[in-house]
Amino acid sequence: MDKHGIKELLPETLKQPLDGLLSFSLIDALKLIHSPPPGIELHRLATGEHPAQQRLAAEELIAHNLSLLKMRDKVQSQPAPLLTINKQALSHFLDQLPFELTSAQQKVSQEIAADINKPYPMLRLVQGDVGSGKTVVAAMAAIQAIANGKQAALMAPTEILAEQHRINFEQWFKTMDISVAWLTGKVKGKAREVQLGRIADGSAQMVIGTHALFQDSVEFNDLGITIIDEQHRFGVHQRLALRNKGFGDNQTAQNSLAPHQLIMTATPIPRTLAMSAYADLDCSIIDELPPGRTPVETAVLSNLRRNDIIERVRASCIEGRQAYWVCTLIEESDVLEAQAAEVTASELQLMLPELSIGLVHGRLKPREKLEIMNAFKAGEINLLVATTVIEVGVDVPNASLMIIENAERLGLSQLHQLRGRVGRGATQSHCVLLYSSPISANGSARLKTMRETNDGFVIAEKDLELRGPGELLGTRQTGDMQLQIADLQRDAHLLPQIKQAAELLIKQYPQSVDPLIDRWLGNNQQYAQA
Ligand code: ADP
Ligand code: MG
Repeated sequence: MDKHGIKELLPETLKQPLDGLLSFSLIDALKLIHSPPPGIELHRLATGEHPAQQRLAAEELIAHNLSLLKMRDKVQSQPAPLLTINKQALSHFLDQLPFELTSAQQKVSQEIAADINKPYPMLRLVQGDVGSGKTVVAAMAAIQAIANGKQAALMAPTEILAEQHRINFEQWFKTMDISVAWLTGKVKGKAREVQLGRIADGSAQMVIGTHALFQDSVEFNDLGITIIDEQHRFGVHQRLALRNKGFGDNQTAQNSLAPHQLIMTATPIPRTLAMSAYADLDCSIIDELPPGRTPVETAVLSNLRRNDIIERVRASCIEGRQAYWVCTLIEESDVLEAQAAEVTASELQLMLPELSIGLVHGRLKPREKLEIMNAFKAGEINLLVATTVIEVGVDVPNASLMIIENAERLGLSQLHQLRGRVGRGATQSHCVLLYSSPISANGSARLKTMRETNDGFVIAEKDLELRGPGELLGTRQTGDMQLQIADLQRDAHLLPQIKQAAELLIKQYPQSVDPLIDRWLGNNQQYAQA
């Protein structure tokens, strides 16, 4: 401890993994930053790249990493139900699927199966590009829990997605005598009582819903596994809050086992970023699409070509295929966005009188939204005009044309999600990105990336480069991390070393762990406490 009461918490041993970063002691780094000596390279100081600042950034990142690792340890020190693999139930399920699993699906479900066959909670993130088939993998995990007499819960971020899961699971589980309960914010009154009752008395083995599932009034009988779909829609903080919930607070008293946790996301996260934001999770990647899919062809066109595109929609729908037309706005306003989509829909209807056109936006009642989605799925609607509510998870294989208006306004991962709504069947699919001039350099770089690749991981790396981690992980997520000195984008190159250093500290200097977390996260330890 020096005379200012500042204690060096990074031991000499870390010099190895932190290669060069410890050329400044903590106190020297602070002194330099507070009163820069003459002759210092000011430009490096301004960008935060001076070794003294990097020294502090590294320490801060280590502290964050430690808090996530600590939280993981805390979770895994609780007992969880050991769920053995039930070959019979599994083959029953697989036999009724109209396809074989891809080898990536097999590999990832084996990783999950092995994890939950242990007496402490699984904490696993499954990353799989849009359309890679995460839902069956989730179903297999649920079956393993249910075959062991436990309940499984699946939470989706939107009503549309939750409903789609419900339809799939009810169909799959019908022949297996597994009963499915259903809970979203819109399930009210008597119907809600019924569902809550079935969840509490265990007569529902599979529970599907939105975040309503984790409200206080929901009591599970014996929850064995929690599955969170499309996690990128939830912030880190929300994820941790859900985890708390899943921990047994809302299980009946006689059961104190913590459920296993499976988290799925279609937003591929660059490896370095995953290391820091998800240090508490094991990671599996479904890195293969089901066979028979032809990669979507993407064109970037000026808005001035709108009429040509409308003709293309006509031709495609007359051939029996279906199309999406996505309207976007700069402002995040449900009302304005809905209005814009309404205007576009009536305009398109005037120009395409022979087509049946549907409209979905965030202002519709969930039931109305569902009716339209179901009609689209059934082929009764040729062209679906939508706001970006359509983004996640919607699965209509016959849709093969995606038009996105003002595509230059959207981020890469959102564009990639939207494009992933097509290319789900065997026919060649197309995506048309319409832009209006003038277009920023950044916007045009995004559109170029979309035209050049369909690979979600390449797109994620590019997104990180163009927009930074805040946009990529969702502002809420990085906002939650509340970094004071470090910057995930600027300091991304440090992350592999950080991970190594954090692991080493836990092993060899456990006494430094809490003080480090305390120093950097202080009273704001949502990580450590979750
Ligand atoms: P996502 O990973 O985006 O959630 P889904 O689970 O919705 O993907 O699967 C997309 C579509 O692919 C669904 O229609 C699903 O039935 C189908 N599918 C999943 N796995 C396979 C497979 N191995 N072979 C063929 N089709 C598959
Ligand atoms: Mg999905």
